[in-house]
Amino acid sequence: MSRYGMVIDINKCNGCYNCFLACKDEYTGNDYLPYSVGQQNEASPFMKVTEKEMGKCPKVKVDYVAQPCFQCSDATCVKMATNGEVYRRPDGIVIIDPEKAKGKREIVNSCPYRVISWNETQNVAQKCTFCVHLLEKGAKEPRCVEACPSGALLFGDLDDPNSEISKNLAAAPAQELNPAYGLKSNVLYRNLPGRLIAGEVILEDRQGECAKDVKVTLKGDNGELSTETDFLGDFEFKGLPADKTFKLTVEYDDYKSQSMDIKTDTDKNIGEVLLASD
Ligand code: SF4
Ligand code: SF4
Repeated sequence: MSRYGMVIDINKCNGCYNCFLACKDEYTGNDYLPYSVGQQNEASPFMKVTEKEMGKCPKVKVDYVAQPCFQCSDATCVKMATNGEVYRRPDGIVIIDPEKAKGKREIVNSCPYRVISWNETQNVAQKCTFCVHLLEKGAKEPRCVEACPSGALLFGDLDDPNSEISKNLAAAPAQELNPAYGLKSNVLYRNLPGRLIAGEVILEDRQGECAKDVKVTLKGDNGELSTETDFLGDFEFKGLPADKTFKLTVEYDDYKSQSMDIKTDTDKNIGEVLLASD
């Protein structure tokens, strides 16, 4: 049996909102019984995209976190149902039955992720269905996944070891958005927003030029990250854990390397790192 899921890579998302728009286009005013009734135009979207701003001017970054229903294996919305009005299909997709759920406004509050909305016109709670009506017609992926131009959303069968999504997860594990909820969600993330460390490298004897391709490493308790400065001489490390101390080292050919300890109690822009020639 299948167990459908999604892996969302925040680093691949460019904030174009195509997933949101494709979902709205699919569901606004369109009934797909027995799985969903037409969404109101002004209703909360089935695909929420939240923006997470990091850093301080002039080094500000924004990450976009797309959030459909997480199709949880231990879904509270299913557990709180009294009459099968919310149920989990054998393929793992969680459905709010539009007939049985009529008038049951309390369903909206059964999801800690707040991805269920209330449809005033239809008098029913609604959410993402993983586009089950399309999958049943043979579609390989939901509308939002198909619409993403940067491949940030990967959809497939988590129980099939040969599916692209299973191979992707076997190569490197992904994480739940909020594991503390204990819902065993089947939508997982890579590169979730965390703390930011950013800065700029200047070569003391070449101050009119941008210091491109300078090696910058960040050592922490769990290993080492490495990057190079871009064409402006800037570098950044995103998605770092909060309240940890890292050793940042900047090294370049015939220049004296620089090291410093940085604590991620907040996002850090360390400004200019000046490298003197050897
Ligand atoms: S994310 Fe919320 S609505 Fe979706 S299955 Fe989990 S508990 Fe239910
Ligand atoms: S899977 Fe379908 S219903 Fe869910 S967010 Fe994507 S387009 Fe919308």
